[in-house]
Amino acid sequence: MDLSMMNEEQLQAIKSTDGPLLIMAGAGSGKTRVLTHRVAYLLSEKDVPAYNILAITFTNKAANEMKLRVERIVGAQDARDIWISTFHSMCVRILRSNINYLGYDRSFSIIDPTDQRNVIKDIMRRRNIDVKQHNPRNIIGYISNQKNALTKPKEAMETADKFPDTLYAEIYQTYQEVLYRNSSVDFDDLIMLTIELFQKEKSVLEFYQNKFQYIHVDEYQDTNQAQYELIQLLAKKYRNICVVGDSDQSIYKFRGADITNILNFEEDYPEAKIVKLEENYRSSQTILDAANAVIQNNMERKPKNLRTKRSLEEKITSIVSGTEREEGHSVVSHIMDLKGKYKYNDVAVLYRTNAQSRAVEDALMKSNIPYKVVGGMKFYERKEIKDLMSFLRVIQNPRDDISYERIINVPKRGVGQKTIDKIRAHAEAHEISMYEALKAADFIGLSGKVANALALLNETLENLQKKSQFMSVTELVDETLHDTGYLEMLEADKTLESKSRIENLEEFKTVTMEFDRDNEVSDSLLFEFLSDMALVSDQDSIEEDSGVTLMTMHASKGLEYPVVFIIGLEEGIFPSRRAIFDESELEEERRLMYVALTRAEDRLFISRAETRTIYGKQESNMNSRFYGEIPEELIEGVQYERPSVRIGGYNADRANRPARGKSRVVTTGGATSKFKTGDKVTHPKFGEGLITAVKGEGSSEELDVVFKSVGPKRLLSQFAPISKK
Ligand code: ATP
Ligand code: MG
Repeated sequence: MDLSMMNEEQLQAIKSTDGPLLIMAGAGSGKTRVLTHRVAYLLSEKDVPAYNILAITFTNKAANEMKLRVERIVGAQDARDIWISTFHSMCVRILRSNINYLGYDRSFSIIDPTDQRNVIKDIMRRRNIDVKQHNPRNIIGYISNQKNALTKPKEAMETADKFPDTLYAEIYQTYQEVLYRNSSVDFDDLIMLTIELFQKEKSVLEFYQNKFQYIHVDEYQDTNQAQYELIQLLAKKYRNICVVGDSDQSIYKFRGADITNILNFEEDYPEAKIVKLEENYRSSQTILDAANAVIQNNMERKPKNLRTKRSLEEKITSIVSGTEREEGHSVVSHIMDLKGKYKYNDVAVLYRTNAQSRAVEDALMKSNIPYKVVGGMKFYERKEIKDLMSFLRVIQNPRDDISYERIINVPKRGVGQKTIDKIRAHAEAHEISMYEALKAADFIGLSGKVANALALLNETLENLQKKSQFMSVTELVDETLHDTGYLEMLEADKTLESKSRIENLEEFKTVTMEFDRDNEVSDSLLFEFLSDMALVSDQDSIEEDSGVTLMTMHASKGLEYPVVFIIGLEEGIFPSRRAIFDESELEEERRLMYVALTRAEDRLFISRAETRTIYGKQESNMNSRFYGEIPEELIEGVQYERPSVRIGGYNADRANRPARGKSRVVTTGGATSKFKTGDKVTHPKFGEGLITAVKGEGSSEELDVVFKSVGPKRLLSQFAPISKK
């Protein structure tokens, strides 16, 4: 195996295969790369069977990348049996084989945050608790914290000593009962239940201890208590555990991450070997100097050196704009200036909160620059996708009432809330699922019509269940949409909305097709598909060739881009208002700034706006302190000029600035259209707007319209209710 590319310390880390090993090192020093090579080294040089190796990454995307790299080094055959996955995926696999020990079905469902919210709201409704007084989100947060700290409902009830914790603990208990009855688990359960399983069934724990003789964990600084516990259990027997992290990059405290896990590693494993990596291979000296200078302001940290062989190169560019909208335009204008040197793919725009993406999106959209918002576009939360997933989940797990309730009246079968309550009461009284309960339709007292409709639904679902045993997921999706009448319902409805729902379902099939390519038909195919879907994380949706990437700084962890923009550097935005008055939160925000800065390889832009409208309020904030912490000599300033031409109160395009190039508005096939670029139009909901592009022809003709009220929209001209002014 060729390790000639590695430096001395990296080699040492790769070759120290026995006993506990801590690799504690700054950003871009090759931690993830070392982990990958260490795994390959174990396989190819130490002859460790792939079956005995576990590597845990922070995202599925990182897991897939690591798998590919290991395959490239040792060949696909040798790498096949190795477990490279996130904590959650690992636990799904373990539970899939063993969850029956805890009384759940092996075909359990994994519920997502939307379902979780529905369950909580339903519990609140039944207990007459006002959602205005108790925000379901707080209750979900409470439950998540309990689970991350491995506190069971009973214990939570015993220890809760003040309101509203006492109430929340009770809701937690009911919530857990509901999930259990549905043979459903949430994300936090995956880890908590795996630990419970290990504690309850020693033989299962021993099996996995013997299996995972070599354990690796990336981004160890962001593990929470439950994850920590899980790793301790698994590593106890062989103690070959290699953890990798950077305490300066711990940014998930709000999700229960506990930085002391990495700081106490040497106490947990006194015989541990520690390797420091001090050479950064990612960023220019300038960028690194900036990052080092910023993080030095944190008091609670171990000092650490990070150097690079690269020179100072380009300075950091500072951008100051009047408003957030102008900030968006500024970012676009700089991206245009980089043309020829960098591809859109090379560029990332980072911000503190998702709400900040909109102004940048506006500007990119109007300039026809392809882009992708990571985690912003919640494809899987769309109604039609959730409906389809609910059908599939009931097919997979008939005990899943949470999903069943979602589809019981889709398409409409005349089933109202009263009917649902009746069925549920019967199900609860007999401790069976709603699906099961319907077999006793006569006893429940449903009207003949409703009973017949539901009998038909169940028959359809049963047939689909049979089909699921021998069909690919794509085929099953087609059958499901057809047999349940879902597609017919959408087709019958001629609105633009239904049309786009059908398009989204088509888009969903690109996901299933990809899955089908990698997986053979078997009776666990659907389970695996649903688990994969449930665990899709923000970073997983980043595609190659998708243009400029927009994401929160949190989502950018572990990634790298040649060009990075950090926007919204204003007190109250970043650091966030909440953090300004709390020293430890402030340090957490500074670590976030450190993460953001160190994503950049060559070019870094730092930007702020003098006034900003966010969450509907206008604010004028001071320059962020993090901005001030970057040494002045590393920065060159650019003051943004306001665009000189405004159309309809809107900066329709940066191209309107006389000093810069031609208009980039694309007009194709618009000849036969009743609309053309530049037309002013009105829309009943969005009000006045301006057409910036006409694309396609006939029924697929699309219009890009910039509305005064909501900004740019792409509309299908056949369906859009717009008229010329
Ligand atoms: P982060 O803390 O951001 O997760 P990291 O420590 O995991 O960073 P990597 O992502 O592994 O760092 O590496 C950063 C970059 O440096 C990658 O592009 C990697 O390929 C490169 N790199 C690492 N080590 C070397 C080396 N010895 N020679 C050349 N390039 C290297
Ligand atoms: Mg890394």
